[in-house]
Amino acid sequence: MLIVMHHSATDRDIEAVKKTIEKMGYKPVAIPGAERTAIGVIGNQGWVDDAPFRGLKGILEIIHVTKPYKLVSRDFHPHDTVIKISNDLKIGGKNPFLIIAGPCAVESSEQIYKTAKFLKDLGVKVLRAGAYKPRTSPHSFQGLREKGLEILQDVKRDLGIYTITEVMSPEHLGLVAEKVDIIQVGARNMQNFDLLKEVGKIKKPVVLKRGLSATVEEWLASAEYILLEGNPNVILCERGIRTFETATRNTSDLSVIPLIKGNSHLPVIYDPSHATGKSKLVPPMALASIIAGAQGVMVEVHPEPEKALSDGPQSLNFKEFERLYLKIQKLISFVEDELKP
Ligand code: PEP
Ligand code: MN
Repeated sequence: MLIVMHHSATDRDIEAVKKTIEKMGYKPVAIPGAERTAIGVIGNQGWVDDAPFRGLKGILEIIHVTKPYKLVSRDFHPHDTVIKISNDLKIGGKNPFLIIAGPCAVESSEQIYKTAKFLKDLGVKVLRAGAYKPRTSPHSFQGLREKGLEILQDVKRDLGIYTITEVMSPEHLGLVAEKVDIIQVGARNMQNFDLLKEVGKIKKPVVLKRGLSATVEEWLASAEYILLEGNPNVILCERGIRTFETATRNTSDLSVIPLIKGNSHLPVIYDPSHATGKSKLVPPMALASIIAGAQGVMVEVHPEPEKALSDGPQSLNFKEFERLYLKIQKLISFVEDELKP
């Protein structure tokens, strides 16, 4: 439930509403706006009776929110969320477009250092690479796990590049959070609710990928699990969904980017590699996502894609990535100059 206060409501009126919410056993969340304050009711499992508010002063409107999420909604938080990855790196709002790149998986120290050095020299600030890999077949490469995390920790220390890696189980969360700057919850775990709750208890930025066949509502409800536990630093990542189409690995749903930016205050980025599954399709789709309003991209890059232990066919080699990187820079400055209102 959302209680919208009149613009002339006093601090006392607002306090009285908050107290009433608390007396009912719920938590009030004040949402200050330019014109008026709204107060969200958190913690209810179903319909909230509005009778206790009827005699209170300063209330303009009571809105019963029927969506399965509140904290991630723009109704509850009208301004864009800005997420601090470090003192010099933020995403969301008017912050610069964030480019995350790197191999699907950590395969060796040599592969990671080579890639990280190339990316850093180009200007990329965040290296991606999976240590724990969610693979369809148990016979496929499962990742270097703890050893992979150590390599990521070393490269971050030695080259000063920020890192992101996937966490697959609550059991590994503490270690992963200690070793990297951003935690990734992958598509297959988007509805692993126990994992989401644990990720919500730490304050690290989290990239939450859209589930293999998740609706936007399910995806936002998953983000709500993280926010509700106290971690507001969620970045949503569109990575394509499964449809009848088999010509591409997934069906790339760019329309959700502007849609979500209307519904939610959380930053949205796009992963053209998993969204298409084909390296040739990655550059045009990455560029298209900028026009759609994405606040960043995450691209798979490998020194030798043909030898990659996972996702080689969708990985760009260094030359291909450099070409894309330069086009992204050009497009961003065009969008900033010409298209921004
Ligand atoms: C990945 O980023 O390597 C990955 C496994 O992605 P997704 O969870 O989107 O399939
Ligand atoms: Mn991958």
